[in-house]
Amino acid sequence: SEAEGSLLKIGVIPGDGVGPEVIEASLAILEKVARQDGIEYTLEHFNLGGERYLATGDVLPQDDLDRLRRCDVILLGAVGHPGVAPGVLEKGILLKLRFDFHQYVNLRPIRLYPGAPTPIRGKGPDDIDMVVVRENNEDLYVGAGGFTYKGTPEEVAIQTSINTRAGVERCIRYAFEAARARASRGPFHGLSDDDKRKGFVRQLTLVAKTNVLTFAHDLWMRAFTETSRDYPDVKCDYQHVDACCMRMVTNPERFDVIVTTNMFGDIITDLGAVLQGGMGLASSGNLNPDKTAPSMFEPVHGSAPDIAGQGIANPLAAILSTAMMLDHVGAGKSAERIRRAVASVLARPTPKTPDLGGKNTTAEVGNAVRDAL
Ligand code: ATP
Ligand code: MG
Repeated sequence: SEAEGSLLKIGVIPGDGVGPEVIEASLAILEKVARQDGIEYTLEHFNLGGERYLATGDVLPQDDLDRLRRCDVILLGAVGHPGVAPGVLEKGILLKLRFDFHQYVNLRPIRLYPGAPTPIRGKGPDDIDMVVVRENNEDLYVGAGGFTYKGTPEEVAIQTSINTRAGVERCIRYAFEAARARASRGPFHGLSDDDKRKGFVRQLTLVAKTNVLTFAHDLWMRAFTETSRDYPDVKCDYQHVDACCMRMVTNPERFDVIVTTNMFGDIITDLGAVLQGGMGLASSGNLNPDKTAPSMFEPVHGSAPDIAGQGIANPLAAILSTAMMLDHVGAGKSAERIRRAVASVLARPTPKTPDLGGKNTTAEVGNAVRDAL
């Protein structure tokens, strides 16, 4: 295999709720594919999340942060606990790692596998196959702002969206590269004959709200236009975020690669997750493309406290995130084998977890993927 010979150090954060359940299934897949393809790795487990916080008060101690930094990549289940105030774990673990490790791209593929249920009538796997490049280090997520006259009738709460030229541009450049890389699958089928005559092969859509966010998204638009000059093979498209939500439902086949802000990316990828069969199937990578610190791979879903502990969480989102992790470390062929195994399981009537209308368990679905490898 491409990654053969180099010992890969994988940090594992199972986290809360269904996190440990879907991570267990993912590690079984990793174990098999690594054995078959000659990938050598070690696992370093981290006890982080709501249970530890409630028992000790620790969110993300410096020692854990240092040990995580020394890993090549990180696999995360989910953090979030019904007994912990909202934001403590999200800000203290998830956002902290994304920011400290310069994971400035959140890559979220939206792809309908045959056999997965889409709620959109008349649309199939050929229509729903896009990828969202979400900026992951800036915007409303930086925690800038505050209260004035808190608790009074005159109260004002300010939440500032920070957008730096350098931060926006590196994300947009990554998205253009991602669009260009998709040319290996052939031209984007949403291109007109006229587009093809002009030399376009794939398409990148900027999703923003330039008519309202006239400072932040003016910067985004200028960075998009200027960066596009280096990518004459990629057709540039623009959609306001509200229109994008509508079009993702009415005409998902119009999207190839989307680049967007942190907040909008969060929202449109939950919509995207539903288009491609639900939260149980949505995978993601928090990427540091420069590899100056580890990248982190996680299912888009959270800890799902409503189904935790029952052994019925869908493990496929976490398994597909594990495949993205293998892509990142140069084991793309192994990643593709995992995706094919997932596709072959989804194409059959069983096993399926309850979120996909089935009656099977996390372990049964995980075992079926393992057998398909
Ligand atoms: P968190 O606070 O950790 O984000 P949440 O309450 O937002 O948790 P999610 O985990 O995002 O919940 O889940 C939203 C819905 O999707 C829940 O009803 C949950 O049961 C369902 N869900 C999430 N992940 C899965 C999964 N892997 N398999 C099946 N259903 C899932
Ligand atoms: Mg959630």
